[in-house]
Amino acid sequence: MSDANLAGQNGIVFNIQRYSVHDGAGIRTVVFLKGCPLRCRWCSNPESQERAPELAYNKKKCLGRTLCGSCQAVCPHGALTDGENDKIACRRAHCQRCFSCVADCPSTALHILGKTMTVAEVMKVVATDSAFYFRSGGGLTISGGEPLMQSGFVTALLREAKRHRIDVTIETCGYADWAALAEVAGQLNRIIFDIKSLDAAKHRFYTGASNALILDNFMKLRETFPGLDILIRTPVIPGFNDSPDEIHAIRDFIGRFARVRYELLPYHRLGQPKYTFLGRDYPLGDRLLPEGKMAELSAVLQPPQFTTTTG
Ligand code: SF4
Ligand code: SF4
Repeated sequence: MSDANLAGQNGIVFNIQRYSVHDGAGIRTVVFLKGCPLRCRWCSNPESQERAPELAYNKKKCLGRTLCGSCQAVCPHGALTDGENDKIACRRAHCQRCFSCVADCPSTALHILGKTMTVAEVMKVVATDSAFYFRSGGGLTISGGEPLMQSGFVTALLREAKRHRIDVTIETCGYADWAALAEVAGQLNRIIFDIKSLDAAKHRFYTGASNALILDNFMKLRETFPGLDILIRTPVIPGFNDSPDEIHAIRDFIGRFARVRYELLPYHRLGQPKYTFLGRDYPLGDRLLPEGKMAELSAVLQPPQFTTTTG
């Protein structure tokens, strides 16, 4: 779908999470948009990466071919075959994403990740909790994926939220066209901006893209919007950036700029089952953060002109 279509009133959303307290100030509703230019190996929302809606299959919920099997009968492309233990198997290469099978699946083992929503539909959900926002200092956070891949839709959402006097934040990986970022930033109360590593080669290996555009965008953002509240976040990933040298380098870089807060986010593997639902392998394998690692890295952030969250 082109930005021309999205620039009006439609966007592709994969989740709307109410009552979040981790994505900006106060109680917030987080709208997650599909599509991301990066392919971070630890991504906890793999369903966010592709822009188009996708078919997910949760084998545990499948009732089995003997009892059901209705999806096999409706699939026009032979994508649903006989799997082990009477379950079905999904041949991803054959699936044309017509989603005919989803309506026929009584257990929701087959389901769609992502749907097209209008600004009005999203805002109806967001506005439901307005009273909580005003009492807690919360509001709307637009996340992803990378929300700036649907910048026309984001701009329209922000405009509506402002009209309702709702505080607005976006979470961005920073890998975006500067014009789109600047247009959106001008409407925000705050931006949450990821800086994952200053090591260009490692960044490319672990995320699929260089960090040059991200760092450049951050510097332009600080310069162009000196009053904007910027929170930099670094997800701490085992084997990638979980060393004091890595965190020190980021801290020194952002320490050159005024009015920037900083948080470390601990790695988790909560998104791993979703890779299975999408028929994908989890790229980071079974790595874990060593015990005490977050405390060790937090010590790097002294003196405390930075706000740190170590989970
Ligand atoms: S989405 Fe369509 S093509 Fe894909 S498995 Fe379902 S019915 Fe078959
Ligand atoms: S329709 Fe759903 S429950 Fe039935 S066999 Fe297919 S995946 Fe399993």
